[in-house]
Amino acid sequence: MSSSGDRRAAVVIEDDLDIRNLVSAVLEQGGFQVSGATTGREGVDVVRQEHPIVVTLDIGLPDIDGYEVLRRIRSTTDCYVVVLSGRADEMDILTALQAGADDYILKPFRPRELRARIDAMLRRPRIGQHALSTPAPPVPALVASSTPSDDGGAGKSSDHLLRNGSLVVDGEARTATCSGIELPLTKTEFNLLHELMRSNGAVRTKEDLVRVSRGRDYRGYNFVSRTDERAIEVHIANLRQKLARADGNPELIVTVRGVGFRILPGQARSR
Ligand code: CA
Repeated sequence: MSSSGDRRAAVVIEDDLDIRNLVSAVLEQGGFQVSGATTGREGVDVVRQEHPIVVTLDIGLPDIDGYEVLRRIRSTTDCYVVVLSGRADEMDILTALQAGADDYILKPFRPRELRARIDAMLRRPRIGQHALSTPAPPVPALVASSTPSDDGGAGKSSDHLLRNGSLVVDGEARTATCSGIELPLTKTEFNLLHELMRSNGAVRTKEDLVRVSRGRDYRGYNFVSRTDERAIEVHIANLRQKLARADGNPELIVTVRGVGFRILPGQARSR
């Protein structure tokens, strides 16, 4: 693990000095030990050394682009990755999410928005870690956590194992397995799958799922844009691919046209 002891590590990969300083300041205020990198390759190296729990990633970097950095990071870590993109084009954002980003923020952004998103990510039931402000409401852990919680904060003994056919989702260990083989999910993918499984066949709107992906008691921007909803579609598509690759049933997640998604309830493997 990290050599930084109790301090939580964050890595800022950004070639623009002003933005790097700004993002670093926001993260340091959030209690992070921040390391910066100005190129994609350096960023990949620093992430491997520091074992951060948060990475912010610029897309336009001088050597390899942010998408490639993301692919390389994703092969070694499931840390929380926020893409800071100067490109407002929806396709750029969706490409980043397809490559495994958890979240994105368009530049120019307000420091307040970045702070709100990071706070939301950190405000989750974790052992031995006080909440940043007010205590989190007693809901099961849906938000990204870098360590499995063993008493989770909410009394949810029967709630943590969710099964559907060969798929088992463990809300405490934050793992999803298909026939015993663990699916390599990002935190956001896990959160969405867990929420859909918990809803047990009920439809969840995309707007609803955007809020799930941001964290339960996210208190920053509550506005949900069309791009945010498209992002959910991309996360769901990634989930289906991972289910299919693990010999699970990608059709377990049903698209409810114009509304959102639901899980086929109590479904054994179809076909
Ligand atoms: Ca740049």
